[in-house]
Amino acid sequence: MPSLNANEYENVRKIFEEYLVKNNHRRTPERFAILEEIYNSDEHFNVDQLYIKMKNKNYRVSRATIYNTIEVLSNAELVRKHQLGDNLSLYEKSFSSRQHDHIILDNGEIIEFCDPRLQTIKSDLEKVFNIEIDKHSLYFYGRRNEVKNESN
Ligand SMILES: [Zn+2]
Repeated sequence: MPSLNANEYENVRKIFEEYLVKNNHRRTPERFAILEEIYNSDEHFNVDQLYIKMKNKNYRVSRATIYNTIEVLSNAELVRKHQLGDNLSLYEKSFSSRQHDHIILDNGEIIEFCDPRLQTIKSDLEKVFNIEIDKHSLYFYGRRNEVKNESN
């Protein structure tokens, strides 16, 4: 999903700031640096990747601070968490990004897609079971097809 412009980012920063105040969390420069790093990227990332990226830019943040801040951002609904297995959690920014789902390939590649038929399924389920669905979680796992060599 594409990066935000400066105004949109300022908006996200404000939301985060208000969330921190409201929930009695400290407003540290590290937390805002982490927010900015996440919102400057279009990638799905894990904590180690973010840690290394910030370390390479000479930010002094510990892994623990990153874990903790991501947890807070996740509760503030500014970061979306993907639990893709027992030991694999990936994160991505969530504010103003379109609803989308993911295909995870065995080489680690992630394809995002948006299919309006899911909305139809959701509406049908709500009618059939007389319920209200708040969210869904959908992951496809697979691999790229091998390229066939036509010259043989
Ligand atoms: Zn995504």
